[in-house]
Amino acid sequence: MKILVAVKRVIDYNVQIRVKEDNSGVVTDNVKMSTNPPDDNAIEEAVKIKEAGKAKEVVAVSVGEEKAQETVRKALAVGADRGILVKVDGVIEPLAVSKILKKIVEKEKPDLVLMGKQAIDDDCNQTGQMLAALLNWPQATFASKIEVKEKSLEVTREVDEGLETIEVNVPAIVTCDLRLNEPRYASLPNIMKAKKKPIEQISAEDLGVDVKSRIEQIKVEEPPKRKAGIKVASVEELVQKLKNEAKVI
Ligand code: AMP
Repeated sequence: MKILVAVKRVIDYNVQIRVKEDNSGVVTDNVKMSTNPPDDNAIEEAVKIKEAGKAKEVVAVSVGEEKAQETVRKALAVGADRGILVKVDGVIEPLAVSKILKKIVEKEKPDLVLMGKQAIDDDCNQTGQMLAALLNWPQATFASKIEVKEKSLEVTREVDEGLETIEVNVPAIVTCDLRLNEPRYASLPNIMKAKKKPIEQISAEDLGVDVKSRIEQIKVEEPPKRKAGIKVASVEELVQKLKNEAKVI
């Protein structure tokens, strides 16, 4: 089995997001960037499947600016065998990413594509589903457990009602939940070794994909500031305030 893993470079989840003064987006200059958290789970799962002897090769792919190479390099440091960077300038929407990934899938012919369930910058939760639709492949989204079988996968999914287990034939697209596993840290020797692993660079034009935006972003605003809370002295006072002031009971 060959596994392709999509990894996106996003603002680190610990960073306090600041909106640009002209409301055209969020500040990214001099801001710490990292791999989208569920994509770390996707890489971890691919490496675990390989370590269990059920996959021969793990290829990490990122779509983005030159700096997204760091994200691919990190995937190589935790066990991916080689990387692909599809270079695109500026913001790229899920539809364009999925069209690019489709071209990469046609070229690489993986048996499984692992992705994050959602990117924490755009919160779209669309790319995996769109890729499955474009390829006409089965999909299992929000995976919290993956079991590799002979020619299929048993995937446990996080759904509103609890856990759902489904079986999908390979080739398939699986999007990963944070509960899937505990991503490992890259050790210094492995970071050094990763420097020697190959990263192929391609441009979206080379793949013949039109990456023009289909969505016009009108403005980005900070959420309204929360008002300070108050302390009440007793349950009676709380009930009285909920009844007479908040009028919610
Ligand atoms: P989204 O649909 O934007 O919420 O992203 C869902 C998943 O698609 C992410 O967790 C990644 O695995 C993948 N993905 C989205 N954008 C990119 C990108 N630019 N490069 C690589 N993978 C991406």
